[in-house]
Amino acid sequence: MNVLLVGSGGREHALAWKLSRSPLVEKLRVAPGNGGTALVAENVPIGDTDVQALADYVRDNAIDFVVAGPEAPLVAGLTDALAALGVPCFGPDAYCARLEGSKAFAKEVMAVSGVPTAAFRVFTDLEAARAHVAERSLPMVVKADGLAAGKGVVVAKTRQEALDALEEMMARRVFGQAGDTVVVEDCILGEEASFLAFCDGATCAPMPSCQDHKAAGEGDTGPNTGGMGAYSPAPVLPDTEWERMADLVIRPILRTLAERGHPFKGVLYAGLMMTPDGPSVLEYNVRFGDPECQPLLMRLESDLAQVMRDCVAGKLDPASLRWSPKTALCVVLAAKGYPGDYPKGMEIRGLEAADALPDSKVFVAGAALKDGALRATGGRVLGVSALGEGLASAQENAYRAVSAVGFENSYFRRDIGSKGIKRISQ
Ligand code: ATP
Repeated sequence: MNVLLVGSGGREHALAWKLSRSPLVEKLRVAPGNGGTALVAENVPIGDTDVQALADYVRDNAIDFVVAGPEAPLVAGLTDALAALGVPCFGPDAYCARLEGSKAFAKEVMAVSGVPTAAFRVFTDLEAARAHVAERSLPMVVKADGLAAGKGVVVAKTRQEALDALEEMMARRVFGQAGDTVVVEDCILGEEASFLAFCDGATCAPMPSCQDHKAAGEGDTGPNTGGMGAYSPAPVLPDTEWERMADLVIRPILRTLAERGHPFKGVLYAGLMMTPDGPSVLEYNVRFGDPECQPLLMRLESDLAQVMRDCVAGKLDPASLRWSPKTALCVVLAAKGYPGDYPKGMEIRGLEAADALPDSKVFVAGAALKDGALRATGGRVLGVSALGEGLASAQENAYRAVSAVGFENSYFRRDIGSKGIKRISQ
């Protein structure tokens, strides 16, 4: 197959690395890609939300199969545009992508599907939202409906914070249209975990659980980021729970969407809060998480291209998926200052040395090849992943690889996996 992968982060380097190993993939191109995808595929200079340009490229270059990495092209209708050309795309149509693109839509689908989630109300009127916030118990969570790069969620400990969030979103419109509708929901407590599944519209194949580290600082302190590290499996959600979790948070959604004439094909990602009363869904994503994708693909032993093709064809056989029993852990190396302002252009050294370590792999997130050298271009620059027999060994192997690779002004958390190790030892 001639395959086009869309996206440019660490997730896409991991997807490109895995797809390039498939005997089904004759030629792999990535739009727009990064310095890592350039090592295993051909980069094509088209932005990942330029649906028209992507569709034109697919038509003109006899692309047989498209894989969407991030959510933005899916929300923008890439799968629908390609379907009109008769080209299959791994990733849901725009209707289903609203599960991620609209928090109000996701809540409505969860409610009708009977999926456990925090109690909520949806508002388009500022005065009504203010009145609601005045009487709800604290803390409460205020969310902009649309995509806001992870910044549109405020966990308000005081009524004033909640009112300020409403003001920012609905009156000052700091997130534009994304904040014209807001969701106000109860705050729930627990440990977070991610549960993902390959879906073919009707059937799902659960993936091993994983856990992200969103906060910039060690001990889960500091501002939220796109994710500073991840590991799989997450001890808080053991493998024995897969089927129960799929019944609780994946299959009911697939049924609802199929009944509405939009079978969900792609990766459905449930962001969970493991509360004392059981799992509760915080959000759905309609694609792999980043960095979660990196440790998950380190563990996937099956042919990713085959799995994706089966999903789009509605022929997924969950029994055919093979996962390594090892644990995988990924540490993100960011540029100092991220998620605020950060320097760019630093040269990355030691990539080959780190890759050469047993069971280790460096995925490039924000770096480009310039004159033969790999230079930082983004906040999250590298994802350094390793496998190990158990979490402690995966952690040791990943940090060994981290010490082999680097760049000036780099920053990384030294405690990725420590929460899980603590849980195992309890
Ligand atoms: P992401 O950056 O993962 O895409 P998002 O903007 O889509 O995030 P959510 O995942 O809904 O938003 O929320 C972001 C974070 O806010 C969650 O990971 C969780 O830590 C916190 N959060 C969201 N909803 C709640 C809730 N009801 N109770 C407690 N914390 C919550």
